[in-house]
Parts: sequence; structure tokens; C-alpha cells
Amino acid sequence: MNHFIKKNVLLLCCLISLHCFAQKKQSNVAPVEVWKKQVIQELDGKTKTAQVMVDMVFSFAELGFQEKETSAYLTKILEENGFKIERGISGIPTAWLATFGSGKPFIAMGSDIDCIPKASQKPGVAFKDPIVEGAPGHGEGHNSGLPLVILAAIEVKKVMEKEHLPGTLMIWPGVAEELVASKAWYIRDGYFKNVDACIFTHVGNNLSVGWGDNGGNGINSIEFYFDGSSAHAAGAPWRGKSALDAVELMDVAWNFKREHLKPTQRSHYVITDGGDQPNVVPSKASVWYYLRERNYEDMKYMLDEAKLYATSVAQMTGTKMTYRMLGTAWPGHFNKALAEATYKNIKTIGLPVWDSADQQLARAVQKLVNAPKTNQYGKPIDGLALKLDSIKGPVEFSWGGGSDDIADISWNLPTIVLNYPSNIPGTPGHNWADAIAMATPIAHKGVVAGSKVMATTLLDMLTNPKIINDAWTYYKDVQTKTVKYIPFITPNDAAPIHLNKKIMNEFVPQLKNFYYDPTKYNSYLEQLGIKYPTIEKSK
Ligand SMILES: [Zn+2]
Repeated sequence: MNHFIKKNVLLLCCLISLHCFAQKKQSNVAPVEVWKKQVIQELDGKTKTAQVMVDMVFSFAELGFQEKETSAYLTKILEENGFKIERGISGIPTAWLATFGSGKPFIAMGSDIDCIPKASQKPGVAFKDPIVEGAPGHGEGHNSGLPLVILAAIEVKKVMEKEHLPGTLMIWPGVAEELVASKAWYIRDGYFKNVDACIFTHVGNNLSVGWGDNGGNGINSIEFYFDGSSAHAAGAPWRGKSALDAVELMDVAWNFKREHLKPTQRSHYVITDGGDQPNVVPSKASVWYYLRERNYEDMKYMLDEAKLYATSVAQMTGTKMTYRMLGTAWPGHFNKALAEATYKNIKTIGLPVWDSADQQLARAVQKLVNAPKTNQYGKPIDGLALKLDSIKGPVEFSWGGGSDDIADISWNLPTIVLNYPSNIPGTPGHNWADAIAMATPIAHKGVVAGSKVMATTLLDMLTNPKIINDAWTYYKDVQTKTVKYIPFITPNDAAPIHLNKKIMNEFVPQLKNFYYDPTKYNSYLEQLGIKYPTIEKSK
């Protein structure tokens, strides 16, 4: 071998070993990690799509069971992207399922879509300024969750198709969450019976996830109707049997009852029918109760007691009582293995980058609503979140709190709730001020960050069977070891789809004038002529 050949052979060997090294290095990276990177990159380019979907649903502002435009709009996008749609599930016209793929794992992804009464509010302005006075509005941020899910699902579907990954994706809406009146019905009607795991998502002010008992209350929503007989309220009041008397006695009795209920209970009511006019003894009256407690036994006790009270006041007043279950939700309990898998991706993705306009709006809103100085975990509230929350485990004790019917899903299969930072910390909730951020860059950025977490976690679940196996082990051996799900609704309870019809009939003609038109405007802020952020009213 002469010197020249020797040198070239050496060079060739070097090149081959370098090539082998490079190949080896590449094969050390699991394909799923490569796909996750690609999906994150793709979603970074989807800010515009996120903005359009979030702003559009914000502008529809539809109350529970009346989410007609919202559902039509979202299912159209899913259909155009190759999902199969089943409409009108559980006898609810605005409920649907969108599916793609086949076989296992079968993963469901959902989020709520309804809004809050009297919460109409212009986005991006730090003072009360309704779009339509008295109309509903997204004062709970439910306009952002399904856009997040859809963004994630479309990207994951692309990977599944390209890489021939088996699995089924199912997207579903939380219809009428504010009435806790759809998810227990979906479970009862079997729509989740083949589902292996569910990732739910809800607006928050950080990227976060938790597992175990979340400290919330379960709830039963029940309306009592009293039927009496009318009479001239001055001419012959002795001939009347007042249904309103029954309602008032019921409420008085229940307010005495509170003294003898556990401090974890919450109960509240509204009189839905109090009669027509004072000179006619009300022949019909009704009262609607939300009854909340920390566990099944205490919920059942409260519900039975309320029925007994209603029966008793009917006897006292000579009226006839009937009732209807309008909603129900178990207390929240979420899956450990799914939460841990999700939290890994949360740490990789991190919080969105807020700019000074976002922070300016956030601080102005915090001032406006007189936000507390610290949150429930003692962390300071000042502008938008800059540090990730830690993963939350089960609460040791709780005085009780709100409810969400996602719990009826979570007591039937492994489920978690991913929170994403589309709203401002320190707002009161269920309030017009909670709508201010919900069609601004804060909401859009939060949705994109959340969609990355959802997409990467989905890819993990599709490629690593251990996650779902561990999830079921937790579900069987820990969560449901001693507690078994017993539904509060019967096969005969129809979902109360009549609710909110009247209110929406009143406001839709006005709200229609303000539906977002993305063909004309770059954002809903632009359509409404709002400079972002607007901190003070112009004089
Ligand atoms: Zn909500």
C-alpha cells in the first residue's frame, strides 16, 4: 500500500465511523421525540388559526344547550380536516362526537363550550364595556378550550397518517357545563365505554395539571315545581292554594336546614317562577336548587332531604309537587399516571412569552377587579404567570368548592384536566371581567401553548402503552378501590335542553351583528375597533 492509498483508506475509515456514529446518535432518539418536535414546530406556526377560532367562538357567546353556532362552526372545521361527526348525541342538539382513526388506544379529548349569563364584555379593555348590554358572554373562557383541542388533534392526526400509527381520537364538547348537564348523560348513554383515556382541558392562568381528589364538590341540580290553585287574591284568597307559598316555605326551611349540614356543603337556589301578578294567587311556582357536597353519600343525603322538604311544604300548602333533575356532577378525582405524563411535556413546553401589552392589560384588570395579593397556594398575583405551577397532588382537606361534570367522565375512565394560561390570574370567575382577556393575544398564546402540551401528550399515549396501563392501574387500584360510581340520573332523565332558549332567542338578533368576520378583520379586537390594550375609558 503506497502512502497515497494508505491515507485514503484511513480517511474512508474515518468517514465510515463518523457516519456510523452519526447514525447511532440519531437512532438513540426515539421516533416519538422527533414527531413531538415537529408537532411543536407546526403548532408554533398556528397562532393565526388559534386566533380565528378563539375569537369566532367568543363572538358567538352562547349559553348552555344553545351552542348552535359554536357547534356548527367547530364541527365544520373538524369535518374539513377528515374527522367523522356524529351529531345530537344524548338527545342534545348541540352535542356531538368527532372521531378519527381506528383501533387502540382510544383517546378522548374534550373541553366546554358554553358561556355565562349577563357577561357580555369587549375584549382587551380594562373596564366594564358590554358588546351587547345584558347579553351572555364568555366570562368563563369556554371559547378557548375546543380550539386548543382541535389544533392539537389535527397535528397528531397528520403524524398518525404519515407514520401509520394505530389509534382512535375522539373530540367532544362539554355542552352546558355551567348547568352540569351533559357529561353524566354521555356516560349513561355509553359514548365513553370503549375509551381508554380522556384528556380534558379548561382555561386557567398557568400550564398545569393535577391528580387525585381536587377538593371540589359534587353537585345535584334539581328544580321543584308546585301546582296549586288560583283565586282572587283580595276577593276570595281563602279559596286559593298558593304555589308561591310552597316555594317560599321550602326556601325558609332549607335555610334552617343549613345549620345542620356539614360545613363542606354549598346550596343555592333561584326562584324560576314566582307567579304572574299579586292579585292572582299563584297556581304555579318553581324553585331551582344546586346542592353540593364532597362525596356521594353526603350528596345523596342532601338531595333526599331536599325532596323530603319539598314534599312537606306541598302538604302544608295543599299543592302538588313534582321535580326534575337538571344536572349532576360527581366530586373531581383525576388520574395520576396521565397527569405525570402530561406534566413532563408541560415542563418541556413552558409558559408563553408575554409582551408588555399583555402584562399591561393583566395588571389593569387585576386592579379593576381588586384581585387578591396571593393565590390559593400563597403565590403572589402580579400580571401574567412567569413561572410554571408544580404538579398538584390530592388535597388533604377541603372546605368544598365548585363542581364540574368532567368528574362523571373521570369516575368512569382515566381522565385529567389540563389547564392552560389564556386568562388573567386573580379574576373572580363567572364574571364579565373574566371575558376581557378571552379574545386577546393572552388567550391566543395560552391556547397555542396548551395545544402543544395536548399534542405531545397524545403522541406519548399513542406510542407508549405503559402510560395507559399505569393509568388503569391507578384507576382500579387507587381511585375506585373503595369508591364506586353511582349515577344520580336515571335512564328516564332527559337532558334539560329547553334551558336558556328564551334568553338566547332574545339576544341572538343583536349578537349576530357582532359575530367575528375573519375575511374582513385580522382580529376581533380590530373588528370592534379596540386598541390593545385599552386601559382607560376615552373621555
Ligand atoms: Zn368552566
